Parts: sequence; structure tokens; C-alpha cells
Amino acid sequence: MGTRNYRRKTSHSEHGAGDGGRTGSWRVERPVLDPSLCIPCKRNKEACFICWLFCPDVVISRTIPPTINLEYCKGCGICAEECPTKAITMVDEAKFAEEDKE
Ligand code: SF4
Ligand code: SF4
Repeated sequence: MGTRNYRRKTSHSEHGAGDGGRTGSWRVERPVLDPSLCIPCKRNKEACFICWLFCPDVVISRTIPPTINLEYCKGCGICAEECPTKAITMVDEAKFAEEDKE
């Protein structure tokens, strides 16, 4: 029978950033990353990325440092909850109100 290329016979879909709309517009808390606590930043090596894995909106990059697309981050706090080193803190959006106007 031989080996078949099953990829050609199946289809799948993957969700991506923005599939849920501009979720960042109703966020009440913003995730803020502290690179001094983040494992890939400290080791300058691709490692951990648990935040990337768990983010339901796929808005965290798998880069050094990880970046968060605030346009689509809904502020659920899962990344902060799952980060093993507590490198992500959820901060009240009101604290950024003035900053964002500039
Ligand atoms: S889970 Fe925490 S330590 Fe790991 S990559 Fe994300 S922010 Fe850095
Ligand atoms: S708070 Fe964290 S886990 Fe939730 S959507 Fe934003 S980046 Fe993703």
C-alpha cells in the first residue's frame, strides 16, 4: 500500500489573532511583561513560552521577548496565571488612560 500523504486528504482550521474581533477594546486589565523575570529573556534562548501556549486569543508571540498584541488581547489574565515566574502582571487599564492618549 505504501505511504500516503494524508495531509492532502484532510483539512483543518486554526484560529488566529483577531478571530474574536477587536477584543482589546473591552479589556479592563492589561497584561504587562517584566523581562527581568521572563525565562527566554533571562536565558536569551527559546524556552518556556507557556504564555504563548495558553493564550486563548493567540496574541502572544513566541519571540524573545514575548510580545502581546493589545489590539486583540481581551485581558483574561490566563497568561499571568500560567506564567511560572510571575513575569506577567495584570494592571488596571485606567492606569494607561493618559499614556494611550499621547
Ligand atoms: S510564561 Fe512567563 S516566563 Fe514563560 S515565556 Fe511567558 S512570560 Fe516568559
Ligand atoms: S490576558 Fe493574556 S492570555 Fe488573555 S488574551 Fe491577553 S495575552 Fe492572551
